[in-house]
Order: sequence, then structure tokens, then C-alpha cells
Amino acid sequence: MFEKILIANRGEITLRIQRACREMGIKTVVVHSEADIEAKYVKLADESVCIGPAPSSASYLNIPAIISAAEVTDAEAIHPGYGFLSENADFAERVEKSGFVFIGPKPETIRLMGDKVSAKDAMKAAGVPCVPGSDGALPEDPKEVVKIARAIGYPVIIKAAGGGGGRGMRVVHTEAALLNAVTMTRAEAQAAFGNPVVYMEKFLENPRHIEFQVLADSYKNAVWLGERDCSMQRRHQKIIEEAPAPDIARRLITRIGDRCAEACRKIGYRGAGTFEFLYENNEFYFIEMNTRLQVEHPVTEFITGIDLVQQQIRIAAGEKLAFRQRDIALKGHAIECRINAEDPFKFTPSPGRIDSYHPPGGPGIRVDSHVYTGYTVPPHYDSMIGKLIAYGDTRDQAIRRMRIALSEMVIEGIKTNIPLHQELMNDHRFIKGGTSIHYLEHKLATKDGVVKGK
Ligand code: ADP
Repeated sequence: MFEKILIANRGEITLRIQRACREMGIKTVVVHSEADIEAKYVKLADESVCIGPAPSSASYLNIPAIISAAEVTDAEAIHPGYGFLSENADFAERVEKSGFVFIGPKPETIRLMGDKVSAKDAMKAAGVPCVPGSDGALPEDPKEVVKIARAIGYPVIIKAAGGGGGRGMRVVHTEAALLNAVTMTRAEAQAAFGNPVVYMEKFLENPRHIEFQVLADSYKNAVWLGERDCSMQRRHQKIIEEAPAPDIARRLITRIGDRCAEACRKIGYRGAGTFEFLYENNEFYFIEMNTRLQVEHPVTEFITGIDLVQQQIRIAAGEKLAFRQRDIALKGHAIECRINAEDPFKFTPSPGRIDSYHPPGGPGIRVDSHVYTGYTVPPHYDSMIGKLIAYGDTRDQAIRRMRIALSEMVIEGIKTNIPLHQELMNDHRFIKGGTSIHYLEHKLATKDGVVKGK
């Protein structure tokens, strides 16, 4: 096992990874920007290194500075967390070439899955169901493009192979708009991702977002650890996640989960990963794979009892998975609310000093957050300041515990989206379960005056 791990991230996930390391007796090195010098996890780290000024381009994305920090502190492995460099194949490669272990998949796997066209090809070959669409990249010939769209049937969506973060996509409803949309998406993709390749998919009108967690070791052992429903989204950003997904036949879930684990064995996947699907009319359609730890991993930890961060570390250290598929039992129900420093209904960011912080507790409650009374939320980064997770024997109990926890949680001095979560935990459609990815935006748009301004 490693003696010392460098954590190349910030905020709640750095604290989460640090806790896993401390439990395993591993020392931690935390790299941080000038803006994060006061953070609790920086003080708790065995060593810390300031890698640059506040903007992430100069610090958390500064590859040479991170590698030098690992060198001067004699760290053996680097955990990238999520976001920042976690899915950057060049970073993973530089880490390994410099003699450190990258806690994640092989660079070539990250590269394969980072290009959505090659990812989809690999998944199709591995028997994972995908959204019907073009066979790989769209050809240049406009006649061919029109033919492909007709065969798929409108509406279609044009997507950039190199896209990410919900960018580089365009929905097309009619043939008249098709070629212009393809040209524009290509140009945008070139400008934003340096890759003009686009592909076409059937546009699903009212899907849910369901994803599968996997773990695979370096010896082709792979398991899936249940699914998560992350359909409650705004602008493609998840707000609430839960496990298991309400109201989907377990037989179908098992079939897809088994396919994901099999795909991991086929592509030689290593580490923790997530297969993301759209789900509509009892069918699953693969859209992409995330080759890293997810924000929402705690709901899976609750229902499986498996610590995903410790598993990532064990796999990176060359250990074999200590369990097989039949050892994984899903129990109970877990819900996560992402707590953001923002106006709950206008969504404008609200950085600043937290004058008072009181986290909730009690049975089945977990709070993953790095903030404390007197902490200043810097304006430079993502607005998520923590996650509140509630577990219960049933979904109903998890919701009731979440309502209590939200009512106990005090964060003063800045605005947070806690009031929005309270509203959603009492929303009859959420309580019923199974809302689509458009539900929250529709609710916010149509309930003007009822939801807003309270
Ligand atoms: P990104 O990497 O940018 O997140 P994804 O391929 O995961 O891109 O798609 C992001 C979101 O775009 C999905 O969660 C979904 O809301 C929407 N989307 C993508 N593909 C389709 C599709 N074929 N039909 C309907 N919506 C889609």
C-alpha cells in the first residue's frame, strides 16, 4: 500500500479523499491555490504545497506545478478527484511518466472514453445499448447527412465528439434546419474543443438520467454497484441524486449492470467509473462514460456499504477486488442534495463568508463538506460547497430524514439552495419518483411566483 498520496483537487472532495487515506493510514499531501490556503483540509494534511494563484488555470490545472509538488514531497500516487484534471489523459500520462501512480484508469482508456465517438463504438462492440444514431462521425457529404437523419427520424441531436459539460450539442427538429445545425456545431466544436468531429443521435424527448457505478481491478475483475437516478437537473447540472432508481424493473437494471461490468472487462478498464444512460420507455441508451469518481458516489456507498475512494486506492496499488458480483447486496435507499452557494431560485452565485454553520445529524445522515463557521467561499470555483446525504430502509424514510436534515442545517452569511431542496422534498412528483431530466426546469419555469421569490 502507498505511504503517501497527493490530492490534486479542492473543496469537499479533497476532504473526502483525505478521510479515506487517514483511515487507511496513508499520509496526504494537499496542493492548493492561494485562495484555498485557509481550508480545513489544508491544515489537516500531513503536507501542503501552494501551486499557484486563485484562477484554476494557474493552479488546479497547472500540471507541471502539481508534478513538482509530488516530487518535492515524495508522494507515490496522485488522486485527481473529480473535475479539474481527473479526465485529462495527458495529465494521467505525465503522472505515470514522472514515476507516480495515477489513481484512475490507464491514460489510453481515458482517451478512448473522452472521445464520444470512439467511446460509443467501444460500447456498441461490448454489447452496451446506445442511442440510435450515425455510425461514428458524420460524413462531409451533405446528401449523406440528410440520409442518416431520415433513417434515424426527427428530432435528432448533433453532438461534438470532444464535447463535455453539456456543451457542443444542437437539437434539430426538421430537415430544413439540419445542414446549418451541423455546420454550426462543427465550427463550435472546433473552437471550444479543438476537434470539429460531430455525430448524430436520435433526440430522446423525455428521458431520465440513470447511471451505473463500476469498479474494476487490473486483473480483469469487474463489478457493478447498483445504479443512480440523477434526473433532477438544471442546465445539465445534477442537483439531486438517488440510489436505487425508483420504478424500474430490477431485471432490466441487472441486465444493463452486467453489460457494464462486461464492457469493463472487454476494454481492460481499471478503477472506479460510471456508465451514463438515458432511460425512456423501458429502454436504456448509453450516452457516455465518466472515468473518475463522481460527486454523487456517497449514495452508492450508502446502499452497498463499500467505500469507493478506498477501493480506488486499493486498485491503483495493484490489489485485486476483494469481492465478486454475488457479494454485492443493495440495501435501503439513499438521496443526495448538492448544497450550492447560490440564490435558491435565481441561481446567481453567492460566495462570501459563512458567519454561522451548523450541519445536521442523526440516523442515516451524512454531510460531506469542507466548510465551517468563518470559512469564506471563494468566488473562483464551482458553487457547490457540500453534499447532504440521507439514507433510509425505504425511499420514503430517506425523504423524511432528508427533510429533517434540511430543516436543521444552518448556513448563514451567504445564500444557499437549501430552500429549493426543501421545496423539492415536498414536491408530489418527486415524492412519486421517476421524473424526467426536464422536470426541474419545467417546474421552475411554470411555477413562477409560487416557487420563486420565497
Ligand atoms: P456531456 O459530456 O456534455 O455531459 P452528454 O452526452 O452526457 O454530454 O449529454 C449531456 C446531456 O445532454 C444529457 O444528460 C441529456 O440531458 C442531453 N442529451 C444528450 N444526448 C441526448 C439525446 N440523444 N437525446 C436527448 N437528450 C440528450
